[in-house]
Amino acid sequence: VLVVRHRMQSSGKWAKAMDIVKEFEEKCATPIAKLRQVADAMTVEMHAGLASDGGSKLKMLISYVDNLPTGDETGVFYALDLGGTNFRVLRVKLGEVDNVKKEFEEVSIPPELMIGKSDDLFDFIAGELAKFVATEGEDMQIPAGTQRELGFTFSFPVKQSSIAGGTLVRWTKGFNIEDAVNDTVGTLAGGRYTDPDVIAAVILGTGTNAAYVERANAIPKWQGLLPKSGEMVINMEWGNFRSSHLPLSEYDENLDSDSLNPGEQIYEKMISGMYLGEIVRRVLLKMAEEAEFFGDTVPSKLEKPFILRTPDMSAMHHDSTADLRVVATKLKDILEISNTSLKMRKVVVELCDIVATRGARLSAAGILGILKKIGRDTVKEGEENHKSVIAMDGGLFEHYTKFRNAMQTAMDELLGEEASRNIIIKLSNDGSGLGAALLAASHSQYREYAES
Ligand code: BGC
Ligand code: MG
Repeated sequence: VLVVRHRMQSSGKWAKAMDIVKEFEEKCATPIAKLRQVADAMTVEMHAGLASDGGSKLKMLISYVDNLPTGDETGVFYALDLGGTNFRVLRVKLGEVDNVKKEFEEVSIPPELMIGKSDDLFDFIAGELAKFVATEGEDMQIPAGTQRELGFTFSFPVKQSSIAGGTLVRWTKGFNIEDAVNDTVGTLAGGRYTDPDVIAAVILGTGTNAAYVERANAIPKWQGLLPKSGEMVINMEWGNFRSSHLPLSEYDENLDSDSLNPGEQIYEKMISGMYLGEIVRRVLLKMAEEAEFFGDTVPSKLEKPFILRTPDMSAMHHDSTADLRVVATKLKDILEISNTSLKMRKVVVELCDIVATRGARLSAAGILGILKKIGRDTVKEGEENHKSVIAMDGGLFEHYTKFRNAMQTAMDELLGEEASRNIIIKLSNDGSGLGAALLAASHSQYREYAES
């Protein structure tokens, strides 16, 4: 009798755990009709953000980049690419036989500088840059007395006031530094240099964002003169998108309210690399607490926010061994959970799949929103249909294969076979640093080919 009762209890717990998974899966569902609503909402918010400052959750920041590289730029330029935890200094020589010669160095930022004063951070960066410039070789053939120019790309939102000045939206301290462009704008420029069909750039990495080329006369809030090109690059800051159509679960809501920026970056929190693993952890924790999924005590490591990183989630998701050995190892090494059954490990993989698929499909919907805004989402009868290339950067897209594939599948489903042939998502690895150097070139204050 005892044995039977014990079995009934544990199967009751298993059923409870499966209910939690099922409920979560339903909440996260992204059928095509829902994705279309998300895409339409994105288009609507784009219009609102372009109409007035504060008109939308989408900031739609004007980048002051009104002419993009053509591929004809020449000369030596420098760039600084400041990401989350490290920065890169680059030197490019444009106009070479193979079009560009690139040298770079990567420097990690000492942790104490990441939480200190921005003056100290920028002093450190300036010091490293000076060291790098000192290594400039004879082969660069720069005439004596030439002024070096530097592009600066930054993976944080900057509300620019000109091509060469701006204020950080999310750090309190204002700053003014030459040619500061958002990393998405840099990626767009880097992509355009080698491919004239590039119309937008998307970053799917630790964070997420998009930039695209807008008609200048479609930006009501733009007060300045219309640029000669008639175009303006917009940094959407799409991570801050929010809509009642987003399939938010209780785990997303709790993640948000426990975060450093509650109520902000809701789309980013469902999509990007910083958060996907954390969502999975939250669901597993609930299963441990309410259904004793990992036994009668809750594994203490599982209570630790952000302990499950997205690269580890990806490794588990891609585990192709019959007994899910990778999953077992990750659970043991990261969460100190051992003796998991194959059945349990399968559930873990399923959770990874739910979270990654939702993020990937929502990203596809966002891209469709941009294509709709600029009229590139359908095939036009009797007209020449240009290719539309989206330059993509970011570790999530690059390394998380199942995420990337789910996103492409959703794009194809949303666009239909014919239109999707004209839309190309192209990985432009580390395009933002090159792009920043190119923007220094195409907005050069010293060279005669500067077009402005
Ligand atoms: C930032 C954006 C940035 C993106 C990708 C987001 O968290 O708000 O400015 O472009 O990450 O790096
Ligand atoms: Mg980067």
